[in-house]
Amino acid sequence: MLRAGRSQEEIRRHNLGALLRQVHLGGPVSRTVLADRMGLNRSTIMALTAELTSAGLVREERPTDTGKAGRPSLVVRPESDRVYVLAFDVRVDRLVAARVGLGGTVLERMEAVRPRAGADLDDVVGVLAGFARRLHRAASPDAICVGVGAAYCGMIRPADGMVRFGPNMGWVDQAFGAELGHRLGLGLPVAVGNEAHLGALAEHERGAGVGFDNLIYLHGDVGVGGGIIVGGKLLDGDGGYGCELGHMMVNPHDGRPCGCGSRGCLEAEVGEQALLDAAGRSADLFGREGVRTVVEAADLGDLRARDALRRIGDWLGIGVANLINLFNPGMVIFGGMLREVYPGAAAQVRDRVEANVLMISRKARLRVAALGDDATLIGAAELAFAKVLASPLEVLSRSDGALGGAPGADARPHDVMIR
Ligand SMILES: [Zn+2]
Repeated sequence: MLRAGRSQEEIRRHNLGALLRQVHLGGPVSRTVLADRMGLNRSTIMALTAELTSAGLVREERPTDTGKAGRPSLVVRPESDRVYVLAFDVRVDRLVAARVGLGGTVLERMEAVRPRAGADLDDVVGVLAGFARRLHRAASPDAICVGVGAAYCGMIRPADGMVRFGPNMGWVDQAFGAELGHRLGLGLPVAVGNEAHLGALAEHERGAGVGFDNLIYLHGDVGVGGGIIVGGKLLDGDGGYGCELGHMMVNPHDGRPCGCGSRGCLEAEVGEQALLDAAGRSADLFGREGVRTVVEAADLGDLRARDALRRIGDWLGIGVANLINLFNPGMVIFGGMLREVYPGAAAQVRDRVEANVLMISRKARLRVAALGDDATLIGAAELAFAKVLASPLEVLSRSDGALGGAPGADARPHDVMIR
């Protein structure tokens, strides 16, 4: 709600951003619908659209035959090919980069498999910068990069994208965001976020959680991360390190040891290793591939694999029941490897919710991530779009969209990372 006393100019800027957000998240839409949704009259919508059109952010088209009599309202579309962001995703076992157009279209995507052992900041940034150059070269000459975002599998200081703690790579206080920004040479800051936080935002804005302003996203990999959306906003805590749902205690007495030094944390009981151990899988099967072999075996009737999924489901259900009692979400979403595990574990999770959640909160929906494995990448793209959506014209006037020849920009990703 706009407070009284705002200048006309402030209102105009706010409305420009709000209109662009409607088109970015909702896709092509008629001026009439925009006027309804935004509570503005049609001449205001026309003026705002004209400004965004002349800035090259949207275009207006006559809709294809609507079948109705009279002159149809023009449809406003995002300029997805012309205005884009670079999105990166540093995962436990791979590095992903994409050029994502306004409107959320993934225009192009690249990835390299990454060994699980520790990784050097310089190597990782070199691979991502190499990807960025290739993505940029593929864009049309008049295309403009308006932001850069990255998801990282660890704890991130939001202000500058510093990786405070990245256990999978052995990173402590590594200036990831600053270094990536330098190597890209775009003159744009790199916004970095925790992968599960960004997965939660993406599922909220574009995935299973659209329309749910209170939801919980649980992201499984080696560990388990989380994102909690309350009132439409991410609950990220005092320093931005909140929602470490994987370290919620669920099994204090006989719990498995956790990477954090404690025992019986949710991630120790439901993470990848817990599943593989319960299913009796050998140590050379791991990662998503290992998880899939267990899920597939269970589907084919393998009793040990089925028991393993049930065991995981029981602990997961305890965690989910606690979270539902605490936050009363409209939806709980399972992403990452939990997306694959959940269907075989759903009965146990539901039983726990039935048994342990206060009756009035039990109607929370339980769903798998609609954006699949790219939830975190899409979240990074949305982080990158945040500034242009907040002040469209200002960001555009500052962007030149050129990738400079920063040092290391020609890094050869395949030499460094692909095994
Ligand atoms: Zn822990």
